[in-house]
Amino acid sequence: DADGVAAAVATGFRDVPDFPRPGVLFKDMTPLLADPVAFGRVTAALAGLARDLEAGAVAGIEARGFMLAAPAAERAGLAFWPVRKAGKLPPPVLRRDYDLEYGTAALELATSVVRPGERVLLVDDVLATGGTARAACELLEEAGAQVAAVVVLLELGSLGGRPQLGDRPLVALRTLP
Ligand code: AMP
Repeated sequence: DADGVAAAVATGFRDVPDFPRPGVLFKDMTPLLADPVAFGRVTAALAGLARDLEAGAVAGIEARGFMLAAPAAERAGLAFWPVRKAGKLPPPVLRRDYDLEYGTAALELATSVVRPGERVLLVDDVLATGGTARAACELLEEAGAQVAAVVVLLELGSLGGRPQLGDRPLVALRTLP
C-alpha cells in the first residue's frame, strides 16, 4: 500500500553530505537496493502506476533510473526503454544537451524501439533541478512517444524541479521541502 511504499522510500535513502561536491546533500538509494522487501514494494508501485496510466513502456534514466524502471517494466509486462548518457548507444539515436548546475550533460535515446504515440512512464530516483527529467521527456517526445507521467522516488522540492516539467504530470513517491 501507499504507506508501505512511502516508508520504503523514507528508509531506503541515506543522506551523504558534500558528495559528489561540497555543498551537495546526496540522496543515496543503496540501502533501498539492498533491501529486497522495500525494493519490491517500490518496483511494484511503479509497475502499478504504469498500468494505471495505460502506459506501453517504462523508460529509465541512466543509471539509477535503470535500476528502478527495468524491474518495474518487467513486472508490468511492458517495454523498458533506457535513456542513456551520450556516447553509449549505437545509432540510430536522438540526442539532447542540457544545462546542469555546473556545466552541461547530454542524454540519448535509441529510436528503433519507440512506437509513435506510445504512452511512456519516465522513471528516475531523484528530481532535483529538473533539467535531467525535462531533457529525457523532450527526447521521448521527439521520438514520437507521449509522456504519461514522470515518476521519481524523491522530489527535492526546494530545488524547483517540478515547474521544469511544464504540463507533464509528476508523481513523487516522497517529497522533501
Ligand atoms: P536534476 O537534473 O538537477 O533534477 O538532477 C537529477 C539527476 O541527478 C537525477 O538523475 C539524480 O539521480 C541526480 N541527482 C541530483 N541531485 C541529487 C541528489 N541530491 N542526490 C542524489 N541524486 C541526485
